[in-house]
Amino acid sequence: MSNLGSAERQLRVAIVGSGPSAFYAADDLLKQKLNIKVDMFEKLPVPFGLVRYGVAPDHAKIKNVTKVFEKTAEHPNFSFFGNVTVGKNITVFELQKFYDAIIFAYGAESDRHLGIPGEDLVGSYTATEFVAWYNGHPDFQDHHFDFSHEVAVIVGQGNVAMDVARILCKTPDELKKTDISQHTLEVLAESKIKEVHVYGRRGPAQASFTAPEIKEMGELVDCYPVIDPKDLDLNEASLKEIEDAAFAAKKKNVEILRHFTTIAPNNRNRKFFLHFMRSPIEIIGKGRVQKARFEINRLVGEMGKQKVRGTGKFEEIDCGVLFRSVGYLGIPIKGLPFSANAGVVPNQAGRVMDSEEIYSGWYVAGWIKRGASGIIGTNKPCAEETVNSLIEDLDQLNPCEIPDTAQVIKFLKDREVKVVSFADWKKIDAAEIERGTKLGKTREKFARVTGMLSAI
Ligand code: NAP
Repeated sequence: MSNLGSAERQLRVAIVGSGPSAFYAADDLLKQKLNIKVDMFEKLPVPFGLVRYGVAPDHAKIKNVTKVFEKTAEHPNFSFFGNVTVGKNITVFELQKFYDAIIFAYGAESDRHLGIPGEDLVGSYTATEFVAWYNGHPDFQDHHFDFSHEVAVIVGQGNVAMDVARILCKTPDELKKTDISQHTLEVLAESKIKEVHVYGRRGPAQASFTAPEIKEMGELVDCYPVIDPKDLDLNEASLKEIEDAAFAAKKKNVEILRHFTTIAPNNRNRKFFLHFMRSPIEIIGKGRVQKARFEINRLVGEMGKQKVRGTGKFEEIDCGVLFRSVGYLGIPIKGLPFSANAGVVPNQAGRVMDSEEIYSGWYVAGWIKRGASGIIGTNKPCAEETVNSLIEDLDQLNPCEIPDTAQVIKFLKDREVKVVSFADWKKIDAAEIERGTKLGKTREKFARVTGMLSAI
């Protein structure tokens, strides 16, 4: 029986990643009635992952959750190691020498592919890169988005598609006080986009967006929603679905969409179109995106289990840009088992495993554990399940060789890694808020790592 977590021997846990699941896991660990040290490793100099780089700038309230995370970071047994890439600056096996357990909570930073011709044409972008760009993520600042055309197409009808559509449809005035990057504001101010067409492969009763997000699309200053009322004629199974209590959220979506058919343009210049039952077949263009081709679908099967079937009928739309918004995908870290199809680390209740064995002392939480789904709050119970597994395993964990955080710092220093502490982040934070104040915004992020480091 190990004495890990006791007064004599602190349990040492490394968390890889600093987004919501990482912070919820840290918080849950530090609330245990055990002696636990939590060190969090983040590849950027700044914390909060998808809250900082995924949540849309005009959804400021959602970002308030960082205040809860800051409280966790104040705990005396918590340390932040920013600007450290696990898998590059330190391998998972090297990390293991310093920690009794590791929780991988590094999210899903890549994107799913459609696997159709034309996906790589100029003007065909992923929603993930656009979101990261407008949120000032340093890895995406050299991306170029061409908004010199009037028609934009978005494939996929999740909440990320709604974020992308909203950012394209809002006026600069609606965005200028947010923490959207100043460069993005300047690019969007020149945008010629007049129509945004969002395509879903299933029907209005199956769309993945949630009610508050779709409702907002009917409340924009210079854009109004357009839906063909015929698209809202639901088949029998879909009608049954929306009357079922289990699908209450979908019923709300359909009600909002029905309301959209009554909204008048009121001199608004931009149009937000929703199209249903359309699967992307091809992105067409000579050298760049000029058209997108869809197959018209129908739904077959019983309520709750309906599947799409192509009808053999096709339609095309002329467009200048196309965003593929069909879901985020996790990426592997060397040494960790990985399921490429699902984009997750295989696990049982958060315990990392491959087809044969559980990897003792290794855990996952958040999107890299369960795939890219759910809202920020979904990560709390997910992280708690992982922490529960870790605590249950306490007696079987192998104590690490070097139980000393000072030695981790020395190890990284020897590798010439400039580690950023939470106190350093607070300096970056203050500098960003000050930069924002000068521009009349909540914050102007440093969009380059060098800028972040120079603020320390
Ligand atoms: P998502 O909700 O899974 O939506 C993905 C969309 O892509 C769905 O419409 C899906 O259609 C479609 N799709 C997938 N593969 C496709 C294909 N091959 N061809 C055509 N369409 C395809 O993913 P997401 O929008 O990236 O969002 C990720 C998670 O973050 C979600 O849980 C979302 O709610 C959350 N999020 C929340 C907020 C918020 O709360 N404000 C904001 C952003 C994101 P099917 O439904 O038919 O599969």
